[in-house]
Amino acid sequence: MTDTIAAVATGLGQAGIGIVRISGPAAFSVARAIFSPATGGPLSKEEARRARLGWIIDGERRIDQVLALPFAAPASYTGEDVVEFSGHGGPLVLDEILRAALGAGARLAEPGEFSRRAFVNGKMDLAQAEAVMELIGARNEAARRSAALQLAGAAAGRVADLRARVLDLTAQIEAALDDPDNLEFEGGPERAGREAAQIRAELERLLEHGAYGRKIAEGIPAAIIGKPNAGKSSLLNALLGEDRAIVTAVAGTTRDVLTETLRVGDIHLNLMDTAGIRETEDEVEKIGVERARAAAQGASLLLFLADNALPWEAEDDALWEITRERPHILILNKTDIAGALTPEEVLSRTGEMPLPVSAKTGEGLDELRSRILDVVRDTRGAEGEEWFFTNLRQQQALRDAAESLKMAEETAAGGLTEELMTTDLMDAYESLGRILGESVSDDLAEEIFAKFCMGK
Ligand code: GDP
Repeated sequence: MTDTIAAVATGLGQAGIGIVRISGPAAFSVARAIFSPATGGPLSKEEARRARLGWIIDGERRIDQVLALPFAAPASYTGEDVVEFSGHGGPLVLDEILRAALGAGARLAEPGEFSRRAFVNGKMDLAQAEAVMELIGARNEAARRSAALQLAGAAAGRVADLRARVLDLTAQIEAALDDPDNLEFEGGPERAGREAAQIRAELERLLEHGAYGRKIAEGIPAAIIGKPNAGKSSLLNALLGEDRAIVTAVAGTTRDVLTETLRVGDIHLNLMDTAGIRETEDEVEKIGVERARAAAQGASLLLFLADNALPWEAEDDALWEITRERPHILILNKTDIAGALTPEEVLSRTGEMPLPVSAKTGEGLDELRSRILDVVRDTRGAEGEEWFFTNLRQQQALRDAAESLKMAEETAAGGLTEELMTTDLMDAYESLGRILGESVSDDLAEEIFAKFCMGK
């Protein structure tokens, strides 16, 4: 038998309101025990989904004036009876409301337990439950949009389509095996192999798109590369619009790698400000240089800064060598001064026309932002929807399904067999089902939901 759980569903800290959620077969009796309505009778299922004003009372103590919102099973988030109390959003207030609920017979919910119950009761599939977590954790607009689309069932729809194709293929092979003269499946083995390959190609496209989506969700690792004093810290500050990095006029003083989150349009970059990459005898600086090289290695986007105050030097060549083969934007900084370097000269050195900017006056920064978006979109590989399978568990299931289909292609090359259907294709079918949680063990479900936070 399931028990009744309770938790604070809103964030810690002071806020206008905060919510304590109670779910389970005893939700109404727990709620009635602690809630004293301002008017009318006690909370009842007949009046589900109607907000009631009243007080939370714990014995003789008045705890808070709240709005009670009851839901009768199965029409609730968890699919069970649920009562939500919206109280005033103070940590102590919410803690006392929760204590009162626990005192009246509820148990403190585990992290993710509400969503787990929603999944178990068929209110949402696993991809949707995970989308809830991604929606809450979204750090930029692109990630939020992807999570919202998954919550709306986009992933489920696509997986259902692909599974239907696998099942259809299996049925056709079965028919052909039952009746070798079956004209329905002419060209049998080749056609089966071809169809398996097509479904696999679709899975691989989703995987590639998912890898891009994961980067979008977590932030694109990017680094600013340039010799000391080219204006790397200044550019970072100008883009951030704040004085985060220390700007100095002495060469080689930005010694640590700083990482800043930079929002650009609907995505964000994790931008590393590297120390001047320079061959040096100075021990302290050398560490910075090595870190900077490593940062450049780990970055998916490099912003290369040429310095208009100085001629192009051997050092610029060395840095350009690191940059040129990777996704990058070539920038000529300090265009506000009558410089030592023209864009044409940079072009002749690199084969690319630099984008002129001034970290000092802000000139060219809007253009830089729009170039950043262009380069990031160019790295996305396959064209795709606005949602992604970013989650590693979902990606593993896609990979397993692709693997089984590859086996199917190989088996099909040897003719239509029972094994092709029952092993390869059914494995692919089951792997796809895992995305939605259909063939997921209890232990795995528990592990997944344990990653949720309290009250979800
Ligand atoms: P970093 O060593 O590459 O990080 O360079 P900094 O950002 O510390 O800048 C070095 C010097 O160049 C500082 O004195 C900055 O004020 C100056 N500087 C940076 N960007 C510009 C710019 O666009 N125009 C001008 N005139 N000076 C700049």
